[in-house]
Formats: sequence, C-alpha cells, structure tokens
Amino acid sequence: MVRVRFAPSPTGPLHMGGVRTALFNYLFARKHQGTMILRIEDTDQGRFVPGAEEYIMESLAWCGIEIDEGIKEGGKYGPYRQSDRKAIYKQYADQLIESGWAYYSFDSAEDLDAIRKEYESRKETFSYDTQTRKTLRNSITLSADEVNHLLNSSLHYVIRFRMPENHEIVMQDLIRGEVRVNTATIDDKVLFKSDGMPTYHLANVVDDHLMQISHVIRGEEWLPSLPLHVMLYQAFGWTDTMPQFAHLPLILKPSGNGKLSKRDGDKLGFPVFPINWNNPETNEVYSGYREAGYFNDAFVNILALLGWNDGTDKEIYSMDELTEAFTLERVGKSGSRFDPEKAKWFNHQYMLLKSNEEIAEEFIKAYSAKLKNQAAVEETEPNDQPAEKEPLQLTEQEWDRVVKIISLVKERAQFVKDLWSQAWFFFEAPTAYDESVIKKRWSPDMTKILKDITLLIEPYLHTDPDEFSLDPADYESMIKTHISSNGLNMGNVMNVLRLCLVGSSMGPGVFDIMAIIGPAAVISRIEKAVQTIS
Ligand code: GLU
Repeated sequence: MVRVRFAPSPTGPLHMGGVRTALFNYLFARKHQGTMILRIEDTDQGRFVPGAEEYIMESLAWCGIEIDEGIKEGGKYGPYRQSDRKAIYKQYADQLIESGWAYYSFDSAEDLDAIRKEYESRKETFSYDTQTRKTLRNSITLSADEVNHLLNSSLHYVIRFRMPENHEIVMQDLIRGEVRVNTATIDDKVLFKSDGMPTYHLANVVDDHLMQISHVIRGEEWLPSLPLHVMLYQAFGWTDTMPQFAHLPLILKPSGNGKLSKRDGDKLGFPVFPINWNNPETNEVYSGYREAGYFNDAFVNILALLGWNDGTDKEIYSMDELTEAFTLERVGKSGSRFDPEKAKWFNHQYMLLKSNEEIAEEFIKAYSAKLKNQAAVEETEPNDQPAEKEPLQLTEQEWDRVVKIISLVKERAQFVKDLWSQAWFFFEAPTAYDESVIKKRWSPDMTKILKDITLLIEPYLHTDPDEFSLDPADYESMIKTHISSNGLNMGNVMNVLRLCLVGSSMGPGVFDIMAIIGPAAVISRIEKAVQTIS
C-alpha cells in the first residue's frame, strides 16, 4: 500500500520547488493506486504566517493535485495539522527518555550563546553533540536528584536526541542510493520543548509512522535530517516499517548558480510562486504563475520535467501521461536549472494544443470589457456587473467569429494576455499607419488603385450575410485577378491593403482579415487610410 504525504510548513507561500515535491508525491501515489496525504507541519508557531495554509491548498488545487487525506478532506489517520496533534507527541519524547535515546538539557539560551561566541572567537563552530554534551547541563551530566529538581522547577528545558558515539549510519535513498554518515558529524537535535511542542524532527517521524507513510518524497534540503530520522526509527523500534526515502534534486536559478529560492521573489524576472502571494505583513504582492498567465497544465508539465524525464525526447505530458510514465528511478541526482524561456515555450505549446473554443473562452473572459465596446460584439442583455464577473453574452455568430480569430492568431501568442495585441484589429479600425510601410509601398496612384478595389467589394455590401458572404478565397481571387489583369505590383498592393486594415505589416493573411471584418469594414478602413495617408 503506497501512502505518501506532502508536509509543508505554513511559514509563507509555497515555492515552485514545493509544488514540484507535491506533484512527484501525487504522481507516485496515483501510479501505485496509493493515497496522497496533505499534512500541515506547524509546530514552529513562531514562524506561522496567516493565510499560508489556504494558499497551499489553493495552489495544489490549481495544479490539479488532489488530496485524499488532509485537513479539509479528513481521513482515519487525522488530525492532519500538527498543532491539532500536540497531545500525541509528549509520550513519544518520554519513551525515548526512558529507553535512554534522549535526555533533558537545561542549558539556557544565554549560556549556549556565550559558549557559541567563545567557540567563534577561536574560529570554531559549537555544536551540542556526542562530545560537548559531556560538559553541559543535562541529564547525562547531572545527578538524578538534580534533574528531578530542575524538572519540577519552572525552568525551561528541552529534550535532545542522544546520538550514539562514533557510529556509522547507513541509509538508502531511492534517488541517491546508499548514503553513509558517521554520528561524530551530527549534533544532538532538540526533539521536544518544555512548552509542550515537539520540533519538526520528532513530529515528522512520529506522524509518518502513525500515518503509515510508505515513501517519504521530499526536497534535497532534508537529506541532512535523514540520519537523525533513521536513528529515530531505530530508537522507537520502528525500523521494520520505516518508510523508503527519496530526496529530490534542487531547482537551480537560470544561471545554474545556486538554488532557486523563495527570496528570489520576482527579482529574476519570473515568478517563483504558483499563484500570487499577498504578504500579510508587508502588503507586498509576489507574482504567481497563474496570474502571469500560465495554463495550469503547462505549469504542471514544466515542473514535472525539472529533475525528471522518461528517457525519451518527449516533453509534453498531460497529468494522466505523467502518472503513467513517472518513476522515482528516473529522477536525477543533480540540480535542475530552471529556464524561464523554456517555461514560456511550454505555455505556447499548450496554447496550440488547446482547442480554439477553449482559448476563445479565456480570451473573452480576459477582454470582456474591451469587447463590450465593440459594435461587432453586442451585449444581448444589459447588466451593471463589472465586466470580469459577468461573462459576456455573445450571439452564435459572434462566438464563431471569435473562435475563428483565435484560430488565426494563437500561434503568435504565448499567453492569453498576448492575444489582444495580435487580434485587436479584428475589433477596431487602426488609427495610425506605419510610416516605414508607407515609405516603401505607397505611391500617388494608390488612391485610384484602392478606390477600384472598394468598387469591386461594394456589390457585396448589401447581400444578406446569411445567404452569401465573401470568404477568404473569394477575396483572394477577386483582388488578385484585379491586380494581375491591370498589371499592378502585387507586393505593393497587398502590403498597402494590409496597412489599411491593420495599420502596419503585422497580422495573419490579408484575405482572412477581410473575410472576418466583412465588406463594410474593409471599405471604410480603406477609405479612411486613403484619406489619412494621401
Ligand atoms: N515540514 C517540512 C517542510 O516544510 C517537511 C519536510 C519533509 O517532508 O519531511 O518542507
């Protein structure tokens, strides 16, 4: 039975590396018909940030990472928030004291600070470990009477793990293989504090055990904690059911120098968070992929390929395909450089993959305010709601027209927010004309040439569009025949026509544009351009 957990601490927004950890857990769970658990690790109350828990859940939901057991979903191994499990941990700390795997330490913060400073003055680093504990104030050095006395006084104390001396811990990691560490290099970590709160290490191991976690899949930054965790399983006598561990490689900055961190915020020119984060303390807003215009499935695809590949060149995966293909064996050991340009490329690929209808819906949502002002897109019902809230009501014909426009421009856009700059001229006439095109293509005889072209189109002005409308091929044969039979310069006339319709040399095919805006707009745009330019 595969049971995995994503165990974030609500100390702020989830970084994209955290989302990737959640994703890999989720893919692994789904692949093995297992259970995905969301456990909130909030034992460090001093670092609790309001709103972070909701942010985490909203981010996961946006990515389509479904939780089977968690603070919202419930489950038979709950509660799933560590502060709600406070009463559970003390007995486990006591158990370790009784078995000799842990001890009380009474050194005050001031005493330890003083010692640390003294070490620093000698250019050494102090750690509370198998050697120094012999000289400090703890239940190893003090008599039983003294210890009892201190425990009964209101003094603060902590419970520390008693690392065995000079012992080689051998660990297995599913990504890194065998890892060996000697206990001489590890300090005696605090497990429990006299305020009744466990630390991360104790709560994490106890909960993984009680929640019957089969695989711990987490970021590489937790690898240094693995020796202690493995020793804790041993100390509790839980080695037989100890989960398997997999430590995921870091996500590196685009430069490849150093890990992509939360502190990078928006500094590197791209978001490091899945969705916008409003820092409740400073009121600052950090941008998220969602608000930057990324599709959620593109974002998931981007994350999946940071540190994992299936051994082929395939790059585009749906969540189902990822579930099918994902294995921990194919997660790499070395850090994976984040490439923001490639991220945009992914979003573009998803733009192309999605149906024109789907993109049209997003486009209409994003630009309903602009579209409302267009004669071509009329509101059927009056409403006082803000434009974004109330979806724009389009007639079937208007809807088809938007879908068609999207099909013509989407290959030129990476994001929905780029679409307006590629499509505005389908909705409004240009008001300015590119000087360089005029210089290159316009000549005095253009006035007459353009007038003749409008005369060609005029007869279609009065036809019923339901009965007859000019499609791109009709415009093409009509105009091209006219150009060649009059011996006109094809390049110049076509470029000038585009200039009249769009104001520049951008956009999809001239005849496609004509067919969409219709004969009346074609004629009026040509007339306006002639007036302005000549
Ligand atoms: N609470 C830890 C974190 O914030 C969890 C580490 C783990 O998965 O063991 O990432």
